[in-house]
Amino acid sequence: MSFSAVPVAGRRKKDRPEIFLELTRSICPVCRRVVDADVLTRENKVFMHKFCPEHGWFDSLLSSDLGYYRAGQRFNKPGTIPLSFAAQVEKGCPEDCGLCPEHKQHTCLGLIEITDACNLQCPTCLAGSGGKNFLSLEQVKKMLELLVVCEGSPEVVQISGGEPTLHPQLFEIITAARDMGIKSVQLNTNGVRIAEDDAFLEELARLKPSIYLQFDGFTPEVYRRLRGTDLADLKLKAIDRLAGHGFNIVLAATVAKGVNDDQAGRIAELAVNHKNVRGVMFQPVAYTGRHSGCDPMNRTTLPDVAAALEKQTGGLLVKEDFIPIPCPYPTCFSVTYVYRGGGEITTLPRLVNVEDYLDYFKNRFITDLSPLTREALEGLWSACATPGSEEVGSNFACCCGFSPESLKELEQDIIMIGIHALMDAHTFDLKRARKCCIHQVLPEGKMVPLCVYNNLRRGCAHG
Ligand code: SF4
Ligand code: SF4
Ligand code: SF4
Repeated sequence: MSFSAVPVAGRRKKDRPEIFLELTRSICPVCRRVVDADVLTRENKVFMHKFCPEHGWFDSLLSSDLGYYRAGQRFNKPGTIPLSFAAQVEKGCPEDCGLCPEHKQHTCLGLIEITDACNLQCPTCLAGSGGKNFLSLEQVKKMLELLVVCEGSPEVVQISGGEPTLHPQLFEIITAARDMGIKSVQLNTNGVRIAEDDAFLEELARLKPSIYLQFDGFTPEVYRRLRGTDLADLKLKAIDRLAGHGFNIVLAATVAKGVNDDQAGRIAELAVNHKNVRGVMFQPVAYTGRHSGCDPMNRTTLPDVAAALEKQTGGLLVKEDFIPIPCPYPTCFSVTYVYRGGGEITTLPRLVNVEDYLDYFKNRFITDLSPLTREALEGLWSACATPGSEEVGSNFACCCGFSPESLKELEQDIIMIGIHALMDAHTFDLKRARKCCIHQVLPEGKMVPLCVYNNLRRGCAHG
């Protein structure tokens, strides 16, 4: 018997152009079956290389900066076990979501989509919303109860959609979440109703949830491309009207290469200079839902946003200010805090050695780190942190040695700037999903990591 071997073109041994970093599991972007995936590096970039037996080979860019990707791995802390699990291990990950007992992190932030209806039709919508379904108040209360059963005292719930301001019982839902002891209720909105409906805004102002306002930039063209229509003036009007009623606002900005990545700095500066804006969450665009056509090798990644902010803010922010949040997998999320008080603007990592405190592989050997400072930094570098909250203010004060008396002013002078790299079918990495701390609470009584939900279940959220 003779063996067969396929000859290599040129028949000369040579090195591969890339270095193999690790093996993980991903999904086929076409049929969504779970497949093995290599994580490789070439020319200082990190990318995923995977094969589906039915649909062939796929490559996608994960990070445009190998150094940032590798350095980030240090910021990874032990997960917390929730009080209850709503699913059991039966078929294996990711079919058992969730959360099943093998999940590596509890719920920092619970998301509830109360409707799939929307007053916009964004071409970038993560799940292609545009339905007519509204959860009943009773359904939402049951979902909130599930969160309480699993978490005890949940820190944060985000009410989302579709467009949640279209729900006829939105106010009752916010009240129900508060009555169950959930510390922070966030409303994830496109701002259309806030900009246009006086009576609605008056009523919302009585409850004052934190507002996560979709805000992608300043020019009509950006909105036409990302949202299908010119919303540039409407967004600024929504901010003014929210500020007039004393809301805390966090801007949620989708960042797409060649569309609005040149406006990231201006968005951050708006946050730093506006008295009611307490933060920005940048989201490099994820190609899920309605937004599926893309070149997966030519896209904005997390370090690209950090680099754009450094370039466009004239040193107000630098790449090194952005330190990964250690509760989910560290390549998911990076954050910094800007302090704008006392006539100066600086960032927290320039005041405190945040890296030493949050590097969980190194910090156990450094004996002069204060446990109180570490606890405060863990509170700030968390998906639970709600910009503008008293807790963020007191954690910041603790790190920097500010007196408790200065707290009220301090709360208004701290701005969170984050970059959250949501995954799509091209970049999906099951090891990140297994440590996800942002969970979609479903009406059928399950909690599913957001990126599993967006890519493997029918999903709908502001993209
Ligand atoms: S992603 Fe988490 S909850 Fe879902 S099956 Fe895997 S380990 Fe379980
Ligand atoms: S939602 Fe996705 S990107 Fe965010 S923490 Fe979870 S797995 Fe990571
Ligand atoms: S991204 Fe948000 S605003 Fe746009 S269609 Fe989807 S749910 Fe509506």
